[in-house]
Amino acid sequence: MSKQETIRAQAGGRMPVLFVGHGNPMNAIEDNEFSRAWRELGKRLPWPKAILCVSAHWETDEVLVTAADRPETIHDFFGFPRALFEVRYPAPGDPRLARRVVELMGAAAAGAALDAGRGLDHGAWSVLIAMYPEADVPVVQLSLASRRRAPFHYDLGKTLAPLRDEGVLIIGSGNVVHNLSRFDYDATEPDDWAARCDAEIRRRILARDHEALVAWQMLDADMRLAVPTPEHYLPLLYAAALHEKGEPISLFNTKVMSSISMTSVLIGGSQAA
Ligand code: ZN
Repeated sequence: MSKQETIRAQAGGRMPVLFVGHGNPMNAIEDNEFSRAWRELGKRLPWPKAILCVSAHWETDEVLVTAADRPETIHDFFGFPRALFEVRYPAPGDPRLARRVVELMGAAAAGAALDAGRGLDHGAWSVLIAMYPEADVPVVQLSLASRRRAPFHYDLGKTLAPLRDEGVLIIGSGNVVHNLSRFDYDATEPDDWAARCDAEIRRRILARDHEALVAWQMLDADMRLAVPTPEHYLPLLYAAALHEKGEPISLFNTKVMSSISMTSVLIGGSQAA
């Protein structure tokens, strides 16, 4: 039995939860330290029945859940090489899981609806293409209701906890520190404020200080630079909300480049690399 088959054969148990810093869409087709870490994760995490991804790249007014049988690959970026636009990630959807997500969110997301037309954005597929290259795990996306404040997102994350016992891998995909307008491709060092804000948030993640994570603006005067708009930060709250007391947690891809951090979080599961 191959390692992958062994992993697939492991049934039951609580699924881990991930927050993944996705960074540059090119990570989808590049072999680099980030995509390698994603590939290794896919090989060692318990095999999921399905994936629920909350991505920075799907902002809506009300909460929506993808419900297509065959979600298309959305190329929601511009100015990248043709090879990236040719990538398809043909993972099936899981309309049953989509309905279950709406049911679980209940009153916490009044007005939540299914969206049978929406595909997978690059916040989801640029990471999943490394983790599950065969595209053989069904994927459902949950949108970010972007008019809602942070506590709404944290509370919504909490309602998803039962899915962990139903074989669903929940992934928040964004970036802890994400300031594109200040990003310098030639920089070899992180910006001071970016490194400091990332370290502060990392500390709160590990300390399970969810109150501080929800009110991140209070952590440092430069948080307005680190999180100029909330959409890349908020997926972290969905993952943090699922971190049970005493549950193991670790960080990976903890690199800050110029004004973007790739800091990522693994909650639960076997933490051994
Ligand atoms: Zn992004």
